[in-house]
Parts: sequence; structure tokens; C-alpha cells
Amino acid sequence: MKNFELMALPYAPEALEPVISAQTLSFHHGKHLAAYVNNLNNLLPGSGMENLSLEEIVCQATGGIQNNAGQILNHELYFGQFAAPKQDNAPSGKMAEAIARDFGSFEAFKEEFQKKGATLFGSGWVWLSADKDGKLVITQEANAANPIQKGLTPLLTFDVWEHAYYLDYQNRRPDHLAALWQIVDWKVVEGRMKK
Ligand code: MN
Repeated sequence: MKNFELMALPYAPEALEPVISAQTLSFHHGKHLAAYVNNLNNLLPGSGMENLSLEEIVCQATGGIQNNAGQILNHELYFGQFAAPKQDNAPSGKMAEAIARDFGSFEAFKEEFQKKGATLFGSGWVWLSADKDGKLVITQEANAANPIQKGLTPLLTFDVWEHAYYLDYQNRRPDHLAALWQIVDWKVVEGRMKK
């Protein structure tokens, strides 16, 4: 049977500073995500799901297997979508057009996305996804849930579990969310849209 592996970060640990510190990244990736990977690898033997893809497990499993698989998928999308901070960072091309079409403007989109992240009670994730017709939607997902469980294609996500920001921002979740726009790699996000 296969074992899931901890993803490698596509940038240096300090590359996202000051938006996300190297210390936060080292705990978030090296401890939290690593624990989800170890947990899933320990839970899978004998489950009948040993040969499923991560996405299939997220959609078919329940309980601890679903939670740990969901957190692995969520974090792979999250860590995979960032790059070094840029002033006035914004989408271009097809992604910019889709955001303007479905939210009115990039500013209006950011406002709604941040608000949904700030108001998610407890732990979870705010997502930008595409529905089956390619229309963009923002959803709040509690705990380890992922939009693929609703038939959506996930494009962008901000982690609002406290472990994602507490070392750098303490209780200031809205400030953390507002800063994350500087490090979104919009080419990666656009690449997740179905062709
Ligand atoms: Mn996290």
C-alpha cells in the first residue's frame, strides 16, 4: 500500500515574511501538516481505502480518516498557492476577468472573502471555488471540509485555524487575512481552473 508523504514547500521558509514568518511556516508545515500525514498513514491500513487517491478519500471517508485526509488536501492547496510578497498583488488575464464577472471587482471580491474568513466561527477555511459552470463562489468550510465534497473545484483558500496565524498575529485574524493578498500566486490559482 502507498503512504502519503509530507509535501515539500515550493519556497524557502522565510520567503513569505513578513506576511507569514518562518517560525509559523515551520510549525504549520513541519508539525501540523506532518501530523495529519502521519495520522492518515496510521489510520488507512485495514480501512478498505488504501488504494484511493487523496481526493477520493476526502469525498468517501468519514470520521478521522476524512478529517486527516481533508486537512492534507487543504494544506497542499494552501501552501502551494503562495509566493514572495508583492505590493499591489492582483490577478490578471482569465482569473481577473472571472473575478470581475462574478464579484463586480477585485476589491469587492477581497472584501467578501475576508469577511467570510473573519466571521467563520471556530476553525476552518474560506474558499474561492468554481462551480460546474465555471462560476466563482466563496464558501466557508468548517474544520477539515473541502469544497470538492460539494462538487466544486477549489481555487484559493485561506486557513483560519488559529495555528495558521497565532504566532504572528495572535487574535488579529482579520489583519492576517488582509495581509495574505500580498503573497497569493495568482498564476497558480488560475491554473486550478478547469480548462
Ligand atoms: Mn492549517
